[in-house]
Amino acid sequence: MADRFFPNDMPDFVQETEITASDSTLHKLLSLPYPKAAERLLRAGLDLSETVVKETGIRYASHAKDPTLYTGALGTAFLLLKKYRVTNSRSDLDLCRDIVKACDSASRGSRHVTFICGRAGVCALGAVVAKQLGDRKLLDYYLRSFKEITLPIGVPNELLYGRAGYLWACSFLNKHIGVGTIPSTYTDSIVKEVIREGRKLSNKGSCPLMYEWHGKKYWGAAHGLAGIMHVLMDMELKPEEREYVKGTLLYMIKNRFPSGNYPSSENSETDRLVHWCHGAPGITLTLVKAAQVFGDERFFKAAVDAAEVVWNRGLLRRVGICHGISGNAYVFLSLYRLTGNAEYLYRAKAFACFLLDRAHQLVSTGQMHGGDNPLSLFEGQGGMAYLFLDMTSPTESRFPAYEL
Ligand SMILES: [Zn+2]
Repeated sequence: MADRFFPNDMPDFVQETEITASDSTLHKLLSLPYPKAAERLLRAGLDLSETVVKETGIRYASHAKDPTLYTGALGTAFLLLKKYRVTNSRSDLDLCRDIVKACDSASRGSRHVTFICGRAGVCALGAVVAKQLGDRKLLDYYLRSFKEITLPIGVPNELLYGRAGYLWACSFLNKHIGVGTIPSTYTDSIVKEVIREGRKLSNKGSCPLMYEWHGKKYWGAAHGLAGIMHVLMDMELKPEEREYVKGTLLYMIKNRFPSGNYPSSENSETDRLVHWCHGAPGITLTLVKAAQVFGDERFFKAAVDAAEVVWNRGLLRRVGICHGISGNAYVFLSLYRLTGNAEYLYRAKAFACFLLDRAHQLVSTGQMHGGDNPLSLFEGQGGMAYLFLDMTSPTESRFPAYEL
């Protein structure tokens, strides 16, 4: 098990100080006052973003080879929008628009409908960029294109390829373009279907909602319960449906591993994965949201327990946000936003500084995996750049394409 992650030998908490007597660079970084650490992360984030744009070769492309947010060009566009929010530089926004356009050409007619892996992500991000540019015509184009998306028969319910991933895009538009941009007449029937399918598979008397993806009842954020519940909490639900969501999350808490981690699927007994996609990190983000939505202490307590697992076992041998250190850092940012507790901000800083100080060397010596798509947002350095930029404004930080 230990070979999946680096042992975390960083102190649980370090008081910030101007004077550092520590022997290692990482420990020096940990004791830096937050604004100074954030300044370094900002510089690294900007440099890394430039590298991602340059090396993906997308700048001059009119057609993206991979138009997804997960591994492809839309992830680079999403990073550029973040960069624009930090730099306020119009050229970042223009480039972002051009990349989305290349993704638009490549994804027309795609059967994938979600934000992270499909057409909804392209149209939704295109609309938000158009609004930021003040380009009304382009905004109308992307909103019209979004409304033309139809969910195929038999589409799954999970976040990466299913209904939840389409619904997340609707919430993203309603947040960034304006309430009612995608009215509930578009989403109501889809939500109803998600609940209906969840009830069908629920093992009556225990978990109120259950889903399958490729024959497995997943629990995690990417393909399972955590991701679907996360999205449902942003939808208009009937009181009974709210209780199903709440009951499902309480079922997960009741049946988690003794360590505080969560199985990747129903009845799995292997306490192994500590990823956003499978295991405690993605589930913590959902529990933080549940604590806000339901105001129930049990969700907060479980989120704190899961975050402890992430602190101890979350320094993964990968850099990205899906199953890497960058994604796991968002667990602490999320709890920091919820509680204002400086210890969580420190822990996010610790994970980010671990990457800043060591990722390059660990990847080049083969001790860390650079990702199957090493520049991408979800698996690679794109995600690391995104985290570094998010660290400059932690109260505004959001796990990309998951936290609204
Ligand atoms: Zn993953």
